[in-house]
Amino acid sequence: MSREWTKNLRNIEPYVPGEQSKDRDIVKINANENPYPPSPKAVEVLKNFDTNNLRFYPNANSTRLKEAIAKYYKVDVSNVFVGNGSDDVLAVAFQSFFNSDKPIVYPDLTYSFYPVWCSLFGIEYKNYPVGDDFRINPEDYKEQNGGVVIPNPNAPTSLGEGLDFVEKILNYNQDSVVIIDEAYVDFGGTSSIPLINKYENLLVTGTFSKSRSLAGLRIGFAIGSKALIDVMEAVKNSYNSYTVDSLSIEMGAASIEDDEYFKSTCQKVIKTRERVTLELKKLGFDVLDSQTNFIFATHNEHNMKSLFEYLKTQKVFIRYFSLPRIENYVRITIGTNEEMDIFLEKTKEFILNDNR
Ligand SMILES: *Cc1c(COP(=O)(O)O)cnc(C)c1O
Repeated sequence: MSREWTKNLRNIEPYVPGEQSKDRDIVKINANENPYPPSPKAVEVLKNFDTNNLRFYPNANSTRLKEAIAKYYKVDVSNVFVGNGSDDVLAVAFQSFFNSDKPIVYPDLTYSFYPVWCSLFGIEYKNYPVGDDFRINPEDYKEQNGGVVIPNPNAPTSLGEGLDFVEKILNYNQDSVVIIDEAYVDFGGTSSIPLINKYENLLVTGTFSKSRSLAGLRIGFAIGSKALIDVMEAVKNSYNSYTVDSLSIEMGAASIEDDEYFKSTCQKVIKTRERVTLELKKLGFDVLDSQTNFIFATHNEHNMKSLFEYLKTQKVFIRYFSLPRIENYVRITIGTNEEMDIFLEKTKEFILNDNR
């Protein structure tokens, strides 16, 4: 039988997410998920949800959710786009804005989904390596390009930059769209949302997955000028109009309206992060100065891949990337205090018994 048809099949390298597991005993600190439950106000919405409503398509414009986001960030509804997690929002943004014959640019230690979208959508890209301190150098971004995307704070480095940095990037790139991916900003970073009125070519993306404990619902958003948002809406409505489902619209809105709970869980994560950082430093680790819900750490005298593997045998899942420059680093999501105590105890055990 002829297999001619196989030569027209797409050959693509997908993004590989952190491992998931249903085992309740596992200390799962490998996917930057929030250890605390979603807002009780959002849970209330779920309990009272009229399932008969599921017969109907959701509101295609996600009005209730967009209005709640607009109010929270003090912008107009026309400045808000929502989608199925910020991965969906970023994918729409890439298709909407990166159509130049020049390559788009982003740092080379960064979120590993960017090259995947470039490959899927046929977008050329160029990387600027971060410095030895893992910081992004804004001066690299002076060169002409087809677009810019930078996570702030960056992943997996956990390092954040201030508005002076973002404004430098914007001033060097007045002829392309600049996307700032703020997946982690709520854990101590500085948001660029206030800059959207000054820079029409700035798009800021955010997610409910991390700081709002709703990774399972898939809610992401973008904030930018009406000129940018209108194009994203047109692209979205060209392949799937009903992205955010009815339940997510209602639960997402209730979640963003519960600021008190949100602030308290973010503060808890930050406090635990500072404590774990200190404890790891006592064990001889070098820990980057995190503005996120994870820490990026290395040790001069121990192999981090072995630590990752040892912890796995002890049912503690962290993340390890086998990549040049970070092959002796581990990324550890901040869990509850109890989870982090188990992590610290097992890590101490590893250090004591490791005779590398
Ligand atoms: C987690 C993450 C996202 C996407 O998260 P969603 O769950 O799709 O909203 C986007 N960018 C970065 C840098 C992330 O770490």
